[in-house]
Amino acid sequence: MTRISPLPAFDDNYIWLLRAPGSTGAAVVDPGDEVPVLDALGRDGLTLTAILITHHHGDHTGGVADLVAAFPEVQVIGPRDPRIRRLTRTVGEGDLVALPGFAESLNVLEVPGHTASHIAYLWDGVLFCGDTLFAGGCGRVFDGTFEQLSGSLRRIAALPPETRIYCAHEYTLANLGFAKWVEPDSPALAEREREARRLRSAGLPTVPSRLALELATNPFLRTGEAGVIAAAEGFAGRPLHGHAEVFTALRQWKDQRYD
Ligand SMILES: [Zn+2]
Repeated sequence: MTRISPLPAFDDNYIWLLRAPGSTGAAVVDPGDEVPVLDALGRDGLTLTAILITHHHGDHTGGVADLVAAFPEVQVIGPRDPRIRRLTRTVGEGDLVALPGFAESLNVLEVPGHTASHIAYLWDGVLFCGDTLFAGGCGRVFDGTFEQLSGSLRRIAALPPETRIYCAHEYTLANLGFAKWVEPDSPALAEREREARRLRSAGLPTVPSRLALELATNPFLRTGEAGVIAAAEGFAGRPLHGHAEVFTALRQWKDQRYD
């Protein structure tokens, strides 16, 4: 079995480290900083064979140059976007990515919205979704559009509910704080917040999460629920029609309250 572990970086980023079973090969997703990656590889005597990039932001790509310098043979895979340097392969919707030493291939999904060229990697029930979907929340809209991000989240929502969500930040408690404004009476949300507090007070990550839990508690995946629509309409001050309009109101509401 491939082992996937989080390497904390900066204040609240996670770089995901994948270890190939039975070999010293390893891959990382979104290495914003090379230091925790080099530390982990050195500690366990691993060789970096692949880097997967979800989008161009510096806290996801800042470590690539130094990792390539340390491992000149490494494959660097990411979306077609001139803002991302040192890619050895660009990928888009439907592409398959075979990692050296790993049995399974990854499927590429285009999930624009947070940025215009954001992609995700789906792999054996695991989704590396960067800054598109977070535990209890979603990314902000930078150079994509609200409609794009709404559509991308609808695509993710349609994946099997047991899919594990490997997002790139530890934002869960702040996200659940906002979710309670949207659905203040949700028992599932209250239970999730208790569990997230327990994990954080023990110094543990709250991610990965499961899509089923996101569908039950994440307002940005619940834009068809009557209570969520009513709350979004309360913020917008007008009737809203369809997932994209409800999503846009929720995202703008959260932009005002939180970062
Ligand atoms: Zn980002």
